[in-house]
Amino acid sequence: MRVLLVEDDRMIGESLREALRRQGMATDWVRDGRAADATLASERFDAVLLDLGLPQRSGLEVLQALRARGDTTPVIVLTARDALADKVRGLDAGADDYLVKPFELDELLARLRALGRRQAGRASTVLSVADLKLDPTTREVSRADRAVLLSAREYAVLQALLERPGAILSRAQLEDRLYGWGEEVESNAISVYMHQLRKKLGDDLLHTVRGVGYYVGPAKQT
Ligand code: CA
Repeated sequence: MRVLLVEDDRMIGESLREALRRQGMATDWVRDGRAADATLASERFDAVLLDLGLPQRSGLEVLQALRARGDTTPVIVLTARDALADKVRGLDAGADDYLVKPFELDELLARLRALGRRQAGRASTVLSVADLKLDPTTREVSRADRAVLLSAREYAVLQALLERPGAILSRAQLEDRLYGWGEEVESNAISVYMHQLRKKLGDDLLHTVRGVGYYVGPAKQT
C-alpha cells in the first residue's frame, strides 16, 4: 500500500511516516497544501492521510481540488479534537473517513485496511490463492494451514500480488508499493524478496515472467 501523508507538524509527520514504513507501507510525506496538490496531481496513491490545518492551502481545499479532478483516491482526514465542523466539512468534501487527533496508530492502521478492502470491493478480509492465505487484519500468512513468518517487505510484496491474483505486476509497480521517496532501492530487491517468498511458501504459486514482472496463482500456459 502506497500512502501519502500530508501533515505540517514535524513530530507527528516523522513518527507516522516511520510507523507506516515499519508496516511495509510505502509512505511519502509532504508538509503543505501546495505540495500536496502537486503530488496528488502527478502520482497515484492507495490512500491519503490529510491534515486540514496546513500552510499554503488548507487540507479542505486540497481535498476539494482532488475530487474536482475526478480523483477517487481514498482520503482519511486528520482533525483536531472537538472540531466537529471540520469533520463534517471534510466528509462533505469527499473524505472517506476521519480520525481525531491524537489517535492510536492501531486505529489508523485498521482504517487504512478497511479502506483498502472497500476499494477492492472484497467482502472477506482474507486474501488467498489455492491454500496460500494472507490475512491483512492479523498480518498472518499461511500455506496449507501452516503459519509462515515473513519480513515486512516480503509481506508487502505478497500482499500486492495477492490483491490481484493472476495479474502481472512489474518490478516498478512493486517497488512503488514498498518504498517512499528518498528510500534507497536496491536494483535487485524485488527479485530477492521473491526468492525469499518462494523459499518460505513453495515455488508453485509465485511466478516470474522474464522482463515483464511477477504474479501469484496457478502457472499460466506459455
Ligand atoms: Ca496542521
